[in-house]
Amino acid sequence: MSEQAPDGEYDEWLDSIEDDAGYYVECANGHGWLPPRRICPKCGSRELADEPLPDGGTVASHTTITVATPQFEDDAPYVTAIADFGPVAVTGILRGVDPDDVAIGDTVRIEVGERVTTGDRAVVFRPR
Ligand SMILES: [Zn+2]
Repeated sequence: MSEQAPDGEYDEWLDSIEDDAGYYVECANGHGWLPPRRICPKCGSRELADEPLPDGGTVASHTTITVATPQFEDDAPYVTAIADFGPVAVTGILRGVDPDDVAIGDTVRIEVGERVTTGDRAVVFRPR
C-alpha cells in the first residue's frame, strides 16, 4: 500500500477548499499532513482524522518564477509560496500581491484557482 493518497483524493481535497471546508489529516500523535494520505509517514499510524484547516496561513518561503517551463509560460511571472497552516505546510501560487512586496510571515488565505497556461486547478494564496 502506498503512503500517498490516490489522485482522486487530491481532487476531493481541492473541492473541500473551494467549498470553504478545507481540511488536513492528523494522526493521534499530532502529526499533520497535506495532501491527505492514509498512513502517517512519521510514526506509521493509520488512524488519521480530518481536521479543519485554519482560516489563515503565514508565508514560510516564497520564490518568484520569471521564466517558467513551457507548461506554465503564460503564468510567468508568478510567485510560488509555502505557507504554514497550523501543523501543515501547503505549497501554492501567491496572487494579488506584487512579487517584490512578498515577505516571510505575510498572512494569506487559501483558495483554488486555475493555471493560466493549462487551466488546471491549483492551490492559490491571497493576502488576507
Ligand atoms: Zn504520526
